[in-house]
Amino acid sequence: MTFPIQKTDAQWLDTLQAKGAEPVAYQVTRHAATERPFTGKYEQHWAPGSYHCICCGAKLFDSDTKFDAGCGWPSFYQADPGAITEIVDRSHHMVRTETVCSQCGAHLGHVFEDGPLPTGLRYCMNSASLDFHGPDSSTAAPATFEDSTGASNATDGDDSGN
Ligand SMILES: [Zn+2]
Repeated sequence: MTFPIQKTDAQWLDTLQAKGAEPVAYQVTRHAATERPFTGKYEQHWAPGSYHCICCGAKLFDSDTKFDAGCGWPSFYQADPGAITEIVDRSHHMVRTETVCSQCGAHLGHVFEDGPLPTGLRYCMNSASLDFHGPDSSTAAPATFEDSTGASNATDGDDSGN
């Protein structure tokens, strides 16, 4: 299976390190490892916003589809349309449905059919595969804000009203 975004393992390592991703993120997203349950930073994270692929930034979930499945990993009942590609996973002597990012192929977790209505699905995700964006950062926030004070106010005429 090929995905629109292709990078070598070394390039993904660089990308994840540059983003400050969790150390386990590379093994999870590129080699389908699973983080230990109840350890992920988003397992009990309920702020409003959206969850994106840690590798390529594609939006995957809205926070209002997140629910507490009690399984130790962040769980969602609905993904953004087309954001996730499902692959039959026959590892570990089980048949499960693996979920990967449709843009870059990053391993995200698995999807099970024991979730809540309206979908009945449970997207069981690794926190390390996700990057949370708050509602005020709908466009990717620059990593550095150098000299952001002053410059944008130059033409606002702050003092005109006084
Ligand atoms: Zn991705």
